[in-house]
Amino acid sequence: MKTLLTFFLAAFCFLVHAQEKPLDLKMDFEEYEPPSTLVVDEHHLTKSKFPFIDIHNHQGNMNSSDFKDLITAMDKLNMAVMNNLSGRGFGAGPDHLEKSLLNIKERYPNRFILFTNVDFNGMDDTDWTTRTVKQLETDVKLGAKGLKIYKTLGMFAKDKKGNRISIDDPRIDPVWAKCGELGIPVLIHAADPKQFWQPIDKNNERWLELKLHPGRRHDKDSVKWATIIAEQHNIFKKHPKTKFINAHLGWYGSDLKKLGLLMDQFSNMYTEIGAVIAELGRQPRAAKVFLTKYQDRVLFGKDSWVPEEYETYFRVLETEDEYFPYHKRYHAFWKMYGIGLPDDVLRKIYYKNAMNLIPGMDKNLFPK
Ligand SMILES: [Zn+2]
Repeated sequence: MKTLLTFFLAAFCFLVHAQEKPLDLKMDFEEYEPPSTLVVDEHHLTKSKFPFIDIHNHQGNMNSSDFKDLITAMDKLNMAVMNNLSGRGFGAGPDHLEKSLLNIKERYPNRFILFTNVDFNGMDDTDWTTRTVKQLETDVKLGAKGLKIYKTLGMFAKDKKGNRISIDDPRIDPVWAKCGELGIPVLIHAADPKQFWQPIDKNNERWLELKLHPGRRHDKDSVKWATIIAEQHNIFKKHPKTKFINAHLGWYGSDLKKLGLLMDQFSNMYTEIGAVIAELGRQPRAAKVFLTKYQDRVLFGKDSWVPEEYETYFRVLETEDEYFPYHKRYHAFWKMYGIGLPDDVLRKIYYKNAMNLIPGMDKNLFPK
């Protein structure tokens, strides 16, 4: 009798459900962003717990700036040192680097560092290698602290015949070797997020970014993401005496196991977290394991200079806050969780690792 009653009750419920018609509502993904009703502790960190070095920044006018606004903004964040990776400027004149270094020396000698850049145009010239190595030596003598390689190499740089120049082109080998000899690191950004090579559809995590910035799509490129990345790994292998900072977690932020294998494979490979904090913020437990294991080889970087956005970085690294927003929806439609790193690891990521990598930085800016 009891079983029979349960059966009828279940059947009744099913019928009621079956009769219920959903409302005729449609909303698109971009519009749907309800404010969270979650009530938990929030820590809005406008400045970092320890002074930090931003290893991945771009500034255009260091040859002429008085740096006042920049220093004010940096102080607010607790940024002790900014590394401008665009040392040679964006298509600026040949003396841009020298003028910038002089300007820094006169105004804030211990707050800014510059990485130089190399020009891959004219790589067919017989003297490209010698002249590039010579320029590198001169730049370092002038005060450049490292070499930044833009993603142009591997993606857009072409020789005279129109062939893509690969990252592991042997003509560049002496440049990588020279950096090792000079004791300066190479910060290299190769390719872009893997999703940019995938079809722009419902399965693509960067769908919104590709919709808003169609110039970033590479789904129709003849060169594959994996090819460019493999070329980059090739130079790490070929030049074990050169220290490479693989920018943006090497685009393996969503696969920390793989990134860990690369860290194991290449002891001369370092990495930084610029523009990929949302990857760590969606996997706080795995990120904590990774950052603890590789605490001596991960550096703080941010990339685009938007001071308000640093809060997300501090919050993910320092706090144990839950389910808080990332600052750019097209990078991450998901929420962030704090990793809550201990002080000793934080200090390494914020400044110690960069100080070990870059010669001649002012130790007085940092706690011991
Ligand atoms: Zn950059």
